Amino acid sequence: MSDTIFGKIVRREIPADIVYENDDVLAFRDLNPQAPVHVLFIPKRAIATLNDAGASDAELLGKLLLAAAAYAKQEGLAEQGYRTVINCNEHGGQTVFHLHVHLLAGRRMHWPPG
Ligand code: 5GP
Repeated sequence: MSDTIFGKIVRREIPADIVYENDDVLAFRDLNPQAPVHVLFIPKRAIATLNDAGASDAELLGKLLLAAAAYAKQEGLAEQGYRTVINCNEHGGQTVFHLHVHLLAGRRMHWPPG
């Protein structure tokens, strides 16, 4: 897949406000936050969209979600709750083609989304 701005963040070529990292996952604050807490969890090994994930990516996808949950617990967000979102392609609103999980917290979320 072609490189994206998130690949540059993984390689530390451009700055980001990194808040969480493990061997497989990096998390940093969204540049344009939609909630008081808005953090993006990305796999260090890029997958363009959820459509491009296969069986061999199952463990990595699980690690992304577990990282988001661990961060929420660490930051005291877990009990009140939060939302995790993966946007896919045009109708999903995806703009950066390096799969990522949005973690939104710090306010009540609405459902259905707009
Ligand atoms: P998507 O629309 O693909 O689901 O989400 C992409 C997100 O990345 C958006 O919420 C956008 O604000 C964020 N974003 C885009 N470019 C940058 C960047 O250079 N740095 C950071 N921290 N966030 C970015």
